[in-house]
Amino acid sequence: MFKDYPLIKESNKTVTLFYPYIPKNYLSALKKVFSTRWIGQGPLVDKLEKVFSKRFANKLPSVAVGSGTDALHLAYILADIKKNDEVICPIFTCTATNIPLLYIGAKIKFADIDPKTMNIDIQSIKKLITKKTKAIVFVNYGGLPCDLKELNAIAKKRKIVLIQDAAQSLGAKYNNKSIVKYADYTIYSFQAIKQITSGDGGMLVFKDKKKLKKAYRIRWFGIDRLAKQGGTWENDIKEIGFKYQMTDIGASLLLESIKDFKKIWSHRRKLYKIYEKTLSKNSSITIMDKKKSGTQHSNWLFTICLKRKDYLQKKLRQNGVETNQVHFRNDRYSIFKNFTKGKKFKNMDLVENNYLVLPIHPKVKLSDAKRISNLIMKIIN
Ligand SMILES: *Cc1c(COP(=O)(O)O)cnc(C)c1O
Repeated sequence: MFKDYPLIKESNKTVTLFYPYIPKNYLSALKKVFSTRWIGQGPLVDKLEKVFSKRFANKLPSVAVGSGTDALHLAYILADIKKNDEVICPIFTCTATNIPLLYIGAKIKFADIDPKTMNIDIQSIKKLITKKTKAIVFVNYGGLPCDLKELNAIAKKRKIVLIQDAAQSLGAKYNNKSIVKYADYTIYSFQAIKQITSGDGGMLVFKDKKKLKKAYRIRWFGIDRLAKQGGTWENDIKEIGFKYQMTDIGASLLLESIKDFKKIWSHRRKLYKIYEKTLSKNSSITIMDKKKSGTQHSNWLFTICLKRKDYLQKKLRQNGVETNQVHFRNDRYSIFKNFTKGKKFKNMDLVENNYLVLPIHPKVKLSDAKRISNLIMKIIN
């Protein structure tokens, strides 16, 4: 958090950086759930998985879980990542991407970023590949897909598993297709500030349909829930599972929000375009985006990079506009020190103090985005 400027007070004159999306019909949706016997994992979780799979995941198996972090942990286990396996990961991401690898005891090989997008850098990945590389984990930062074709080429040649952290990129496309097509595992997050939310929640999507049964089992202690509901004891636990399921309470909110997704997406898109149109006229501001035909940004974040970041943030704050840095490079955290000691991340060094995220969510009005853009132009001239 920006030390001198903690979160701003909400009012009709201020604009916060994030705000959860609550669907209009949330009360009636919740009322329905609370009038049934299923408030934990029940039929709505099954329904959500079906709807999500069709709407966002090319009909691939989709397993709803308690958070994006849960989904990542399950993906790592299903990908058979074991202790001491080498996994290439982004240095710049939410710590949730990398922490589950510590649960397993894998060896994290951090890759640098592309300073134009803040996504993982392909050249840096290539330098880290060894015979022991088991997987590459990548994040579509802010909602901009990485170079997915290139990643697939690298992985295929060497039989490396691709794990896509799409926590920020719901609705993103690459080559005009859903991004799930370009990784063995893709995870989403429904944490409070993501495009749609269940308070906390996540989704695990994968290509290999044979892994579905195991995914269900390890989501729930290692037990086959369906067999157990038969009432007889015929389900030994042979592998250690977790308690990573989603609840019907959360699923009911997501099912409503998915109906609104087009509206949510296009509002965010409009805000994005307003910022982009005005700010691209200022040569001292770089917009963290790289236009590529066929690629669709999810518009989760609008990120700029500039030398006078602190000054701009302070001035915006005085004008009731909250901005911030969303992630810190992971080599700042002691828990990763075994993997970062003596390592240099030149591109990360270039942008870490200069990047700033602007408000872009359903509560921000188009007029707010115009006002904020003009304000920035005035402050940085
Ligand atoms: C939000 C986020 C996560 C974590 O998701 P949770 O649902 O909060 O566990 C993981 N990775 C990235 C890139 C995120 O933005």
